[in-house]
Amino acid sequence: MSNYIYQMHSVRKRFSQCFLHDRLVIDAIVDVIKPQLGQIIVEIGPGLGALTKPIAKRVKNITAIEIDRDLAKRLAKNSFLRTKLKTICQDVMTVDFTKLSTNLGGLLRIFGSLPYNISTPIIFHMFKHIQSIKDMYFILQKEVANRLVASPGSKDYGRLSIISQYHFKITPILEISSASFRPIPKVNSTVVRFLPYIIESSSTKKTRILAILTNLAFSQRRKTLRNSLSGFCNAQQLKECGIDAGARAENISIEHYCRLANFLENRFNLFFKRDEK
Ligand code: SAM
Repeated sequence: MSNYIYQMHSVRKRFSQCFLHDRLVIDAIVDVIKPQLGQIIVEIGPGLGALTKPIAKRVKNITAIEIDRDLAKRLAKNSFLRTKLKTICQDVMTVDFTKLSTNLGGLLRIFGSLPYNISTPIIFHMFKHIQSIKDMYFILQKEVANRLVASPGSKDYGRLSIISQYHFKITPILEISSASFRPIPKVNSTVVRFLPYIIESSSTKKTRILAILTNLAFSQRRKTLRNSLSGFCNAQQLKECGIDAGARAENISIEHYCRLANFLENRFNLFFKRDEK
């Protein structure tokens, strides 16, 4: 895959590049996103523009974030996109989507076939900017999509499921065969829709608590919660939150994790002060 040339572009494995080429699949994705005139559309990783061009046909402007300078230059030269597309040549992990939304003047509709090597960190990055997002459509490895929507008790259930489902209503929309990409990746993909829940801005602290709790619980997933969370709460406190202290991390619902996060909110003030020194 290292010397793979596609449409005269030398494919960069370090940026997880694989390009959609199946016209039917591309049209189906655009139909699912339903871009409308006047909406603020942002693409992560436009690549060679397989999705960018048909989406740009339906809107006035589009903003894209692409780390690969060669691809950004190439998009800027494209005769159709030149007048519609603004490419930010930057690592998406350093993009402040809250600022971008203020600059563009409204809530963002974000989409992209995410680079597989950093799809989970990108999703976590988006949580910080949830107040600026209208919706998101991401093409993800099927395995990541399964983890996102997993329920308690399933083998895929974990931190990603809990923290993502706390922030967004998540729906898998479309399965895409690996054969629709060039070069062909090892796994199939899924288009996933993320609709943000309305979350008060004060909930950042709760998100951090949730992240710490789930990290502790799932990094020792064979232990009971009584043991894995013993640094923060005892069996009685777990019981007060409706949680069986003898259960393991994967058997607790998102609602219960949130209840525990609420309960511990005051205690975590201390933890953060020490943590942030
Ligand atoms: N959207 C194109 C398509 O569907 O054909 C390309 C998708 S490809 C899976 C991922 C794209 O994300 C590539 O264009 C790659 O260069 C870009 N990319 C990878 N890492 C990135 C990062 N950290 N920030 C922004 N773009 C990135």
